[in-house]
Amino acid sequence: MLLIKNGRIADPASQTDAALDVLLDGEKVAQIGPSLEAAGSEIFDAAGLVVAPGFIDLHCHLREPGGELSETIETGTRAAARGGFTAVCPMPNTNPVNDSASVTRGILERAAAVAPVRVWPIGAASRESKGEALAEIGAMQQAGIVAVSDDGRPIATAKLLRQVMEYCRPLGLTVIDHCEDVSLAAGAVMREGPRSVRLGLRGMPAEAETVCVIRDALLAGLTGARLHVAHLSAKASLEFVRGARQRGYAVTCEVTPHHFTLTDEDVVYDSRYKMNPPLASREDREALLAGLADGSVDAIATDHAPHHTSLKDVEFDRAPFGITGFETALALALEQLFHTGRIGLLRLVELFTTGPARVLGCERRIAAGEPADLTLFSLEHEWTFHAEQSASKSRNTPFDGRSFRGAPMATIVAGRIAWRR
Ligand SMILES: [Zn+2]
Ligand SMILES: [Zn+2]
Repeated sequence: MLLIKNGRIADPASQTDAALDVLLDGEKVAQIGPSLEAAGSEIFDAAGLVVAPGFIDLHCHLREPGGELSETIETGTRAAARGGFTAVCPMPNTNPVNDSASVTRGILERAAAVAPVRVWPIGAASRESKGEALAEIGAMQQAGIVAVSDDGRPIATAKLLRQVMEYCRPLGLTVIDHCEDVSLAAGAVMREGPRSVRLGLRGMPAEAETVCVIRDALLAGLTGARLHVAHLSAKASLEFVRGARQRGYAVTCEVTPHHFTLTDEDVVYDSRYKMNPPLASREDREALLAGLADGSVDAIATDHAPHHTSLKDVEFDRAPFGITGFETALALALEQLFHTGRIGLLRLVELFTTGPARVLGCERRIAAGEPADLTLFSLEHEWTFHAEQSASKSRNTPFDGRSFRGAPMATIVAGRIAWRR
């Protein structure tokens, strides 16, 4: 048994923000209450720390199978544990693509052997994510996928998306889409605007995202399926998500730490600033911060996208899209949202826990009988992130060398300490 004493419990599900102890028995929470005692149990002194339900990352890339030069399930989940994540959802764009039960099982078997945190795979919506025929969605769900997506690209056509949604609705599976009109985005490497002109780089307009968000939201309305918009970056996209919800459609969205922290004005001729969707305008960033505060945004997701230095350290135009994100996500959220006073502690925790759980159609709370997954973090701990010391195999982050106030301090998964600072 593990007794977590003297912590500040922050549980959005019950709106609890109080000094309480938590007793874990095996893989479950046994008890929560003031001044607990349990003879013979191991004690974790959480004085000065927030004790939250285990963080869930809805969107990451672990690169295994096929991309082990950049990341493996082992290194990626070790980085996730250091970021406070107790569960991560890897996207299916591996090689082979996770479009069948056998690939799903392979990922889960590897995770069971090496991962310190839970791995909840996302299955492809279409075979090889090519946008032609449906993937084996039902068989993958039985094997353990928690949602479907063709991330890396949008679900190709409205017709296919409708089929995917009609298939997923009775299964209770959320359809996650990387919203991008590929004809508007073709050849672009950053957001279109004064900055792209000055750098001489091809830009894509915000509408490349929003056009697709509108298509997807309409089809969520038509089919009754749950749609989740991945890495939403544009103000207008968020307005259409709000509008779809007002119509009663089941539409949710996530925002990444890099999109609520940086803008296209930060882009320099350095491929660590190249990701998709690209960094957006100042006005977009303000809208994302407002949406994170007012409840329009459901989750913070990292879109952790490692690329080995040999692949990423090339000309901006040739470099792959994506940056790493597990180890800086919470610290950036504290920096941009909490320490600025934009949101309170329970809302911050909600964006990493109950919010993402709701997107997947499940719950997250600290209560007797629930899984013993907890994230312990400090609001004040001062530290500097050094990409060189990351547990990830990749170093592609624009936040290398950034100093932070607040950090993950321990990650507890199924009653065991998966990582401790
Ligand atoms: Zn994507
Ligand atoms: Zn992604």
